[in-house]
Amino acid sequence: MTKISKFANLPGVRLLKERMRKTLQSNGMIPFFLPHQGVSGASIEVGGRTLINYSGYNYLGLAGHPEVVSEAKRAIDRFGTTVSASRIVSGEIPLHRELERELADFLGAEDCLVYVSGYNTNVTTIGHLYGHRDLILHDDQSHNSLLNGCLLARARRHGYEHNNLDQLEHLLKRERAASKRALVVAEGVYSMSGDFPDLKRLSELCVQFDAELLLDEAHSVGTLGPTGRGLTEHFGLPQSTIDIQIGTLSKALSSCGGFVAGDGTLIEYLRYSAPGFIYSVGLPPSETAAALAALRILRREPERVARLQERSRQFRSELVSRGIELAGADLSSPVVPVFVGDQQRCMRISRALFDAGIHVQPVIYPAVPMDGALLRFFITADHSLPQLVKTADEVAAMMETQQTLEVN
Ligand code: PMP
Repeated sequence: MTKISKFANLPGVRLLKERMRKTLQSNGMIPFFLPHQGVSGASIEVGGRTLINYSGYNYLGLAGHPEVVSEAKRAIDRFGTTVSASRIVSGEIPLHRELERELADFLGAEDCLVYVSGYNTNVTTIGHLYGHRDLILHDDQSHNSLLNGCLLARARRHGYEHNNLDQLEHLLKRERAASKRALVVAEGVYSMSGDFPDLKRLSELCVQFDAELLLDEAHSVGTLGPTGRGLTEHFGLPQSTIDIQIGTLSKALSSCGGFVAGDGTLIEYLRYSAPGFIYSVGLPPSETAAALAALRILRREPERVARLQERSRQFRSELVSRGIELAGADLSSPVVPVFVGDQQRCMRISRALFDAGIHVQPVIYPAVPMDGALLRFFITADHSLPQLVKTADEVAAMMETQQTLEVN
């Protein structure tokens, strides 16, 4: 007799089972957790086939770069595979501070702190710095880690419509006076829409209403600005425009982990007291060395950033010239979402593209609203123009042939 799990009747479990059944019915396979071989770059090997790949964040093509790989191996030879403790106890190695100093220098910040995960960086930093007497206003498209940080802080919280700074101003006028401190949370490039806020106006509002500004630059450091320094460089503003600059090491910097950059007082306070930092192991030697090597390559070869931006613009223009409507068609950010709407249709298009040799992930509820399914393309500096043209051809053809069907 098969054992019935204690969790089988949870509403979430039943919903998941139902959605997986529908996905299998319309798609013929579950497109998640597909194991791949080799490095995830402009192409990827899945199930013995080499596909053009748009499903990873290897923006600058550094994930398998020989220098990054050999530095990571050298660090394992010197320090082993883990630092075996929190850094505050006995887990500190010289590479940690080297990476933090070079990151701070690159960004133009006073100091920087690296955490073992980008997700944890947001949760623990926001949760630690703000409390129940404070106000947090965040963009409605904020990443789940930012929202969970706000929940942990137990602050009064309001979302504003995506990139609608008039609404943010209205909320600041209405809510600011009733709270002790205020934080505005935004992203450098939004991972669902590929667009970004007007940083100048955002920072002016923060100054006007005495609010701190946190910017999550997971998708903008290494990708925006002429030399990849992110949204401040894109707008020609100093790094100090942002009070709390957050980023991840797992995307353009081809490693794992996250960082906070800011003034020396903030970083020292977090270094000695942020729970997700002091009660968690230090970043492994291999990942610290990989991020450091990637950062040095990024500084030495800014042409990678220029190429990424050019490829991103080219892909958008190939799609638009085939009649595909894109929000933010003039942007050069490397996140290119194609709106499909219906979830099952989105799954079928993604499956048809997979069969045609193109790996692009469908984004469905709960990551987006029920009727807001997307195909989300992440561009890398290593995508070739012929790859982008072939993809635009196939996307246009599949959007035409895969119409919405009712699946019961
Ligand atoms: N912030 C944003 C905006 C993200 O998109 C992500 C991950 N995609 C994270 C934080 C978490 O970063 P990591 O995956 O490195 O933990």
